Amino acid sequence: MHHDTAIEIRDSFLRGERSAEAITKYFLDRIDRLNPQVGAFITVLHDRAMEKAKALDAAKERGEKMGKLAGIPIALKDNIHVKDVVSTCGSKFLTNYRAPFNATVTELLEAEGAIIIGKTNLDEFAMGSSTEHSALMKTCNPWDLSWTPGGSSGGSAAAVAARLCPLAFGSDTGGSVRQPAALCNLVGFKPTYGRVSRYGLVAYGSSLDQISPFGTTVRDTALLMEVVGRHCDRDSTSLQSGPQDYQTLLSRDLTGKRIGVPWNFLEGLPQHTRANFDQSLETFKKLGATIVDVDLTLLKSGVAAYYIIATAEASTNLARFDGIRYGQRSKRAKTLSEVYDFSKAEGYGKEVKRRIMLGTYVLSAGFQDAYYRKAQRVRTLIIRQYEEAFRQCDVVATPVTTDGAFVKGSITDPLMEYLEDIYTIPANLGGVPAISVPAGFTPKGQPLGIQLSGPQQGDVVVFAIAHAFEQATAPDPSMPELAK
Ligand code: GLN
Repeated sequence: MHHDTAIEIRDSFLRGERSAEAITKYFLDRIDRLNPQVGAFITVLHDRAMEKAKALDAAKERGEKMGKLAGIPIALKDNIHVKDVVSTCGSKFLTNYRAPFNATVTELLEAEGAIIIGKTNLDEFAMGSSTEHSALMKTCNPWDLSWTPGGSSGGSAAAVAARLCPLAFGSDTGGSVRQPAALCNLVGFKPTYGRVSRYGLVAYGSSLDQISPFGTTVRDTALLMEVVGRHCDRDSTSLQSGPQDYQTLLSRDLTGKRIGVPWNFLEGLPQHTRANFDQSLETFKKLGATIVDVDLTLLKSGVAAYYIIATAEASTNLARFDGIRYGQRSKRAKTLSEVYDFSKAEGYGKEVKRRIMLGTYVLSAGFQDAYYRKAQRVRTLIIRQYEEAFRQCDVVATPVTTDGAFVKGSITDPLMEYLEDIYTIPANLGGVPAISVPAGFTPKGQPLGIQLSGPQQGDVVVFAIAHAFEQATAPDPSMPELAK
C-alpha cells in the first residue's frame, strides 16, 4: 500500500476496498518497524489514530459525506499543535508541554477525514537545515542513513520518503520544507505568505513562517493545499482570498509559459548541480516553455538579511519560554531571575542560544539602524525585484540546494549551514510561493530538486508548471531501497 499515492489510498477507501482502520494499522506497523532506523517520529499517535480511523469507518458506514483526505494518514512537524498532545518543538525545554488547542491546519485536515498519525522531529524550534539540532533524537535520510534528511522539517521529510505515511506537514521559514524535500526526493511547497494559517504553529520568524506540505507527487501536495489554503480569522496575517482550485488547473503543456532564470545567482554551483539544472531547463523547453533571463541580483543578499530578520523575530518570539509561562523550570533556581536564567540556560540548545543572542543584538538600541532596519530595506528591495521579474516570466527556476544531502556531522561551522539555504530564503523574504520538485540525482545518487517560485498569490500557477515538469520527468516517484 505504501507504493500508492495519497489520492490512490483515499480512493481505495472511498471505493470500500480498504477500511480506514486497515490503512492506519498498515502505516503504524511500518512506523513501528522502520522508525527506529529512520528517527522520523518523536511521537506516534497509535491510539488516537486508530480511534479516529474507526470513527471514520463508522461514519462511512452510516453514509455520511466523506472528505477530501478521507482515510489518509498524515504526519505533523512537532511544532504544530494537536490538542492534548505534546508539542516539543525538538527542544528539551518543552517536553512537558501539551498543546491546549488544535492548530487551524490540524482542524482543517481532520475535518476532511485525514488521520493524524504522529509528530515528527525537527531542528530545535525549527532553527537549522539538517535536523541535527534536535535535542531529542537523530533523523536519518532514508536514501542513505549516514546522510542528514535536511531540515528543519527533516522528520516529516524522512517519514514521507521512507513511506511511513503518504503526506506530512512541516514549517518553512527559510527553506525548511523545500530543502529537505529536495534532499529526500519529495515535493515540498512553501505557500504565499498568509495563504496557510499560522494559528497553532509555534512561532520562529513570524513574518516568514508558513506551515507547508510534503508529498510524493505534485497532485498529492496540491490536494493538501486545497484543504489548508484558506482564510483563518485567528491569524491576523491570513490572506482574505477564498480556497483555490489546484487539481483541475494542473497542466501538462507549457506552450507560451515563460520560465525566468536569474543566471548571475547561479554562479559557483558545483558542476553536477549545474548540469542537472541545465537538463531541467531542457525539459521545460521540450514542454513548449521559453527560458528568459531575469535580474534578481539582490537575492544574493537574502541570506544576510534573513539571518538578521529571522533572529530578531525569534528573539522576541522565544521570550515566552522562561520556565514560568512555558517550559521546564530549572530545579536549581531559587530567585526569580534564577528561574529565568537557569531555565533558559538548561532548556535551550546551543544553536537556539546563538540565534537569540544574534537577534537581541541586531535589535539593541545602538545597532537597530545598522542591522535590523537595513535588513528590512533589503527585504523591500527583494520584494520589488521579484515583482519586476514576474512581469517578465510566469515562474522563476533555480536549484533548491547547491548540492545533494550531506553526511551527518559534516557541517560544523554555523555559517556554512546558513549558506545551505541560499536558494530557498528569498521566497520567504519576498512572501512568494515556491515549490521543490524532484529533478534527478547527483553522480553519488543523492536526490536533487528544482525550485519554481511564482508571484505572490500565484500558488496555482506554480503547481501547474511543477506538475507538467514532474509528468515529463518522473511520473512515478522513485523511492529509497529502505522503503521498498
Ligand atoms: N535553515 C533556516 C534557519 O535555520 C531555515 C529554517 C526554517 O525554514 N525553519 O533558519
